[in-house]
Amino acid sequence: MNGQQILMIEDEPGLILTLGDRLRAEGFAVDSAQDGNTGLATALGGAYDLIILDLMLPGMGGFDVCRELRQRGCSTPILMLTARDRLVDKVLGLKLGADDYLTKPFEPDELVARCEAILRRPHVPLRSIERFSLGDITVDLRRAEVDRRGEIVPLAGKELDLLCYLAEHRDAAVSRQELLDRIWGYAAEVSSRTVDVHVVALRKKIELDPKRPRFLRTVHGVGYKLSFDVG
Ligand code: CA
Repeated sequence: MNGQQILMIEDEPGLILTLGDRLRAEGFAVDSAQDGNTGLATALGGAYDLIILDLMLPGMGGFDVCRELRQRGCSTPILMLTARDRLVDKVLGLKLGADDYLTKPFEPDELVARCEAILRRPHVPLRSIERFSLGDITVDLRRAEVDRRGEIVPLAGKELDLLCYLAEHRDAAVSRQELLDRIWGYAAEVSSRTVDVHVVALRKKIELDPKRPRFLRTVHGVGYKLSFDVG
């Protein structure tokens, strides 16, 4: 037992059985619910570390379950399972508050790796840094958005993860490898270039002059550093 509890909301008995066994073998305690309404009630009534949520469910669908959970203040990480590999589904799911996706069919090993990666991620940032200012720009991590002098710009999933991690380690130089391990974890195919691409995207949102960043700086030979005043 590793003490961590997972709720699986999934209607395929075969998957519940094989994935449940696999996760239990890794030391997780696993509960399951076979439709959306039961899943929602179980999730709200329990103290889970992670929710695995199928998109296509009888009764309330996965998107609605996800939205309801977030609207009711549940912040448990959600890994969404989808049979569709459509970008629009992923974007919608992210907007509704899912943390990651896995497209069916997948190998049980991959599910375990994703679960572990999500559970390794930094927890909800300290209240003091949920909102902070970078000059004229205000960042709201909880709402996943940036206020650029009145223009509200949403932060996409990995941009938000990256910004949360750097904010939690503010004023420290964080290496690309650490960012890869902590934020992309499971995805062996990503390279340090992935980090750079996301930093460029993030700078366009949080810096007034992305080409000459004041807050999210490059630390040569190391990685990146985010600096800001708290309070
Ligand atoms: Ca299903």
